Amino acid sequence: MSSKATTLLVITAHPDDEAFGMAGVLAKYAAAGVRTALICATRGEAGQSVGLAETCEALAVLRSAELRCSAATLGVGDLVLLDYPDGAAASWDLAALAGELAAHIRRIGPDAVITFDDQGITRHPDHRAVHAAVRRALESAPDHLGVRRLFYQVITCPEAASPEGPGLACVAPEAVDVTVDIAAFEPVKRAVLACHRTQIADAQGMLDRPAGSLAEEHYVLAWAADGWRPVAGAADLLAGLAGAV
Ligand SMILES: [Zn+2]
Repeated sequence: MSSKATTLLVITAHPDDEAFGMAGVLAKYAAAGVRTALICATRGEAGQSVGLAETCEALAVLRSAELRCSAATLGVGDLVLLDYPDGAAASWDLAALAGELAAHIRRIGPDAVITFDDQGITRHPDHRAVHAAVRRALESAPDHLGVRRLFYQVITCPEAASPEGPGLACVAPEAVDVTVDIAAFEPVKRAVLACHRTQIADAQGMLDRPAGSLAEEHYVLAWAADGWRPVAGAADLLAGLAGAV
């Protein structure tokens, strides 16, 4: 049997979701020798253009380039940009998306996959559709397409806020399964936020936070095909996987 590098795949909806979400984990594992991949379902043509693009197609081209900037900065080895209509999840053919994702997952061969939870953090319908399509792709295959762990990236509720409250969809701190220390990669996370020049209005709030405030990312384990359960205080999404670091 050939030995394959441990592989981590992130699946998002828009160019910039990775910057706001899983950038620290992508950078950290890539730096440690894990093979990383990123699939994005749309080219982001419904986003802000800040005067840099005059048409939806021009914005899609620009945002695709912004995502390539981010992926290169994060050391992502395999970037897949799909072209589902941005902001129009209600029109998506979820079975087709699940099928496309399944084909890419088979080709990439990830040990672990990360996507949104069913609330999609911002509750954006595109995020929630990606969640549904990823689950459909993985869970309709008897072997889960070879994937051993599925995680959702989440944010924890600020003190006194509840998961059912308004604003971003958060989870109670005790619901988090794995908290990854990305302090050493906070500068990388800030750099990839800056890659997305057209979305700077959204990114600026995060960039304005003091150094050290982006030092952790939080993940919930959806399932582990190998029965793995994170221990309390778990900090490594890939713990125990062959070749993992
Ligand atoms: Zn998004």
